Amino acid sequence: MSASHDVVVVGAGPVGMLLGCLLAQQGADVAVLERSLAPSASSRAVGIHPPGFAALAAAGIGDDIEHAALRIHEGVALCRGRRIGTLSFADPVRMLPQDRTEALLERRLSRVASRALRRGIEVRGLQTTAAGVELETSEGSVAARLLVGADGTRSFVRERAGIRWERRDPDVRFVMADADDSGEHRGRALLHLEPDGVVESFPLPGGRRRWVVRTDAHRADGAARVRAWSRAAFAAVVEERVGAVLDTATMSEPSPFAARQQLAATFARGRVALAGDAAHEVSPIGGQGMNLGWLDARALADRLLSGSSGGDAWGAYACARRAAAEGAMRRARFNMAMGAPREDAALTARNAAIRALALPPFRKVLAGTFTMRGL
Ligand SMILES: Cc1cc2nc3c(=O)[nH]c(=O)nc-3n(C[C@H](O)[C@H](O)[C@H](O)COP(=O)(O)OP(=O)(O)OC[C@H]3O[C@@H](n4cnc5c(N)ncnc54)[C@H](O)[C@@H]3O)c2cc1C
Repeated sequence: MSASHDVVVVGAGPVGMLLGCLLAQQGADVAVLERSLAPSASSRAVGIHPPGFAALAAAGIGDDIEHAALRIHEGVALCRGRRIGTLSFADPVRMLPQDRTEALLERRLSRVASRALRRGIEVRGLQTTAAGVELETSEGSVAARLLVGADGTRSFVRERAGIRWERRDPDVRFVMADADDSGEHRGRALLHLEPDGVVESFPLPGGRRRWVVRTDAHRADGAARVRAWSRAAFAAVVEERVGAVLDTATMSEPSPFAARQQLAATFARGRVALAGDAAHEVSPIGGQGMNLGWLDARALADRLLSGSSGGDAWGAYACARRAAAEGAMRRARFNMAMGAPREDAALTARNAAIRALALPPFRKVLAGTFTMRGL
């Protein structure tokens, strides 16, 4: 294979495919190269925030998402069974497992440009030329005027472009699992801010609910320190902390993970730009990583389609989107601080702060923070 394109995107995750759709539907010559032969079956991200939804709608799949997703209109914070705050979302958060969103993006990309997505092609080399960038791939060479690395946290493009990856990981751990939902809190996200740490739960399509439990409890005893989680151990911790009884027969395998915060030193260099997890990894708590990547894709597409691209012209993209990623990281750190294990006076003070934040005039700002306003 030897080909040349205006724009080559490396990686057909949610971010690379959205960028491919936005460019291809305006007639741009774009290729999206993906090493996997088949789409990923993992459902990592579930929350689609209003600005992320707007980006998907701009790519032509707003109606599909609306049809498939479940909508969350309200978030409720509780402690020891008592409600300490409620936030209403005028514009809902849509819940759809990432693999289903990716399937809709892939279908859309194949409709707007049937040959844009090329699976089974791994990018293995990158050289800058006078005309742009030359890629060495598992299937031959590909030339591009502009290259976008949307190839995830271990980005080959970022590494070859010589862009530093800054690690700022907080020492915070969680475990999550999906189970059948009782239906009692349909359309509502619950945030149990308990002494041993937060337990979050969100409704999913198909009568399911995702449970996320913080496990770095200050108490050095009991199940909170278990590393390999059985379904029974997960259900026991949820029941002990919040009193909810989960059905282990319908529960998915509990999956432990650490919060992450990593950021590329710059989002663009020469003819190369980074987008999505290749540019930033934000802790899953707050559910913002994929949405932030979609906003990168939209900003890049606007810039590329308006003709202002390449070289230093990408500086404005790099500055604006890096600042947005820093903002998302600050919000994730705030959320994690609110959900940290606490007892006695510290717990009382935290709950008082949340009660105040959930009232006017702060309520609107807080709801905007959770739904990614301004990013
Ligand atoms: C447990 C968990 C829960 C999460 N929940 C949320 C949530 O609720 N909301 C949210 O917004 N985000 C969430 N996230 C984050 C979200 O999953 C990621 O931000 C998102 O997948 C990033 O998409 P991406 O397209 O940038 O990268 P990826 O999804 O990583 O895709 C990169 C693609 O590039 C390909 N690739 C890599 N290298 C090469 C190469 N050399 N050649 C060709 N192809 C290559 C890979 O095969 C892959 O398909 C969560 C993450 C986790 C782990």
